[in-house]
Amino acid sequence: MKFDEKVLNLINYLKGKKICLVSHVHPDGDAAGSVIGFYLFLKNMKYPVRAFLKDGVPYQYAFLYGAEFIERNLDVSKSDVCVLLDASEFSRTGFDMPDLPIIRIDHHKTGERYSDYDIVVTDAPATVSLILSLVKVWDESHIDERVARALYTGLLTDTVSFIHANSFPWAFSDALYLSQKAQIDDIGSLVYERKRKSFYLLLMRALERLTFDFNDKLAYTFIKNEDFAETGATSEDTDGIVRHVISIDGVEVGINFIEYEKGVWKVSARGKGRIDLALLCLEFGGGGHRNAAGCTIEGSLEKVIKDFKRAFEKWVGSL
Ligand code: AMP
Ligand code: MN
Ligand code: MN
Repeated sequence: MKFDEKVLNLINYLKGKKICLVSHVHPDGDAAGSVIGFYLFLKNMKYPVRAFLKDGVPYQYAFLYGAEFIERNLDVSKSDVCVLLDASEFSRTGFDMPDLPIIRIDHHKTGERYSDYDIVVTDAPATVSLILSLVKVWDESHIDERVARALYTGLLTDTVSFIHANSFPWAFSDALYLSQKAQIDDIGSLVYERKRKSFYLLLMRALERLTFDFNDKLAYTFIKNEDFAETGATSEDTDGIVRHVISIDGVEVGINFIEYEKGVWKVSARGKGRIDLALLCLEFGGGGHRNAAGCTIEGSLEKVIKDFKRAFEKWVGSL
């Protein structure tokens, strides 16, 4: 089925329904932006809608109007359907799967199919771009300034300020459209120039531990569970650290191993195109995109790094 037809089908299905929106744990700008943007649009349409993020809206995105309406405890008792945004699997929400039809709107290349109405477009710059396509067709008059600012935030952050290859030309045409709907020129500064001191304390530790391997093509660092208490940082402060690792000239894959829970390491992987990191992370039950992916590995740091490197070795031929 063509994209436009899928969008129409989904709109017809959602019409008149009580909708619940969810996205992934440790939400990024796309998770927060797509949930908030779609929520505000549906509210403008007078729909009964609720939106849930297990970890709440991170402080970087709390400036968005609508962040205050996002709930942390999933309650689907008053919903007919649950729309899973920017997540490959429902388990990524951190919530138990509800007994409701699930519809996935996403751009990750790995993941589950939940219904005939799913819209999964891997070359979309961000999930917010899929939401924008949908709301434009549904009722463009309800895309107000607040909706546009939330969607733009997801677009800006998921394209890493429009430097990712998936930015052209779709992301630029969305940015143009959204800039005509709202004042957006303050958003970059609000997101990127308000880092907390605890972010830098964490970053300093991460940079000190930077390690190179495979002829400096792989670079990695780690954040231990106790680093959070010792620096006063929270999970929100890890956002952006892996960018420093992949930004090194010559490094093809950059990793941050983050121990959010003792003995449970979140692997945050970034690449420059040579290796499909979504497939690499899939080996550990994770997934994502070619150049940005993640998974979870349990055990001591030494074991986790060893496990990861063993999987990485199989791909070295592509470097
Ligand atoms: P992160 O490094 O946490 O920013 O994640 C990079 C990309 O991979 C994002 O698009 C995530 O949604 C995706 N991702 C991260 N962890 C997982 C996982 N365990 N399973 C599937 N996708 C993931
Ligand atoms: Mn995301
Ligand atoms: Mn995304």
